[in-house]
Amino acid sequence: MRYLITGGAGFIGSHLVDSLLADGHDVLVVDNLSTGRLANLEAALMHPRCLFTQGSVLDPYVVDDAVAQSDVVVHLAAAVGVEMIMANPLRSFHTNVRGGEILLEAVHRYGRKFFLASTSEIYGKNYNVPLHEDSDRVLGPPTITRWSYSTSKAVDEILTNLYREERGLETVIARFFNIVGPRQSPSYGMVIPRLVRQALSQEPLTVYGDGNQSRCFLHVVDAVAAIRGLLDSPSTAGETFNVGSDHEISILKLAEMVREVTGTTSDIQLVSYEEAFGTGSGFEDMVRRVPDISKIAAVTGWTARTPLPTIIEDTVKAMRHQMEPCDDQPLRLP
Ligand code: UDP
Repeated sequence: MRYLITGGAGFIGSHLVDSLLADGHDVLVVDNLSTGRLANLEAALMHPRCLFTQGSVLDPYVVDDAVAQSDVVVHLAAAVGVEMIMANPLRSFHTNVRGGEILLEAVHRYGRKFFLASTSEIYGKNYNVPLHEDSDRVLGPPTITRWSYSTSKAVDEILTNLYREERGLETVIARFFNIVGPRQSPSYGMVIPRLVRQALSQEPLTVYGDGNQSRCFLHVVDAVAAIRGLLDSPSTAGETFNVGSDHEISILKLAEMVREVTGTTSDIQLVSYEEAFGTGSGFEDMVRRVPDISKIAAVTGWTARTPLPTIIEDTVKAMRHQMEPCDDQPLRLP
């Protein structure tokens, strides 16, 4: 079986590539390396069953060629990270909406199976937790940049569902809730790699707002197991699933845990949203976001296995390694 992984040089994508190769599958990665890194595919690129194309999902020729050569398409390429979205709202919206449409057109043309990576941002500020797959989307006005990201992924979901209903495409959608672990870049605002890097650099740990907002974090290895289960089970066809942990922690407590695990001397610094995102950005944060994961558990038997301290320890180990000075040349394509 050959899997096309768009965004396969990214954080989740590269772990999925490794897992598929280890199980004997063929993999084709399409990534424009905007946020993905070749270093994430260091081992995979040496593998005879792994092909890599540097290209964008916005390029219909690249997409057509890649889909034609594949049996299953896993669409992970997207603009991610709150900071990235806030800094590049138009480009992010285009990448997600046009990219999704171009992919689906090609997938339909060749009659392939389609997996869409979506996000818990879909639910917006619905605090009626736990969030079920059919919970309402609660959004602020479209002028608030954050909601444009939620909307772009909702468009992807709607297109996917319409292609299934009207064109008979075989599809499955996963909504990821705060996936964390090795290879996640601290550059796009995600809180755990950001706090870990600050702790290891003995810089203040920046906690936005009063730190009482909470999240549930899932190890990337558990996320990959969920993707594999969703792809392999015939009963997931046409369905949408939450993928996350239901262990909730406030960001302030999280920062304290990062301090403990790293043994840093850094203090925790409360930073207002205006300071973090600029005045007039109209930034809105989510107060809580807890998934109901009973559907994926019932259909595939999947559960989140890795406890939060281990997630943080793994992130610390990877970040320490990444921060070590080295004389290596940047990795080049073979
Ligand atoms: N956050 C924080 N400090 C940071 C980065 C993020 O306190 O340096 C907060 C952010 O405001 C949010 C939570 O951590 O409440 C999770 O943020 P992230 O961007 O990782 O994910 P998302 O908001 O998409 O759940």
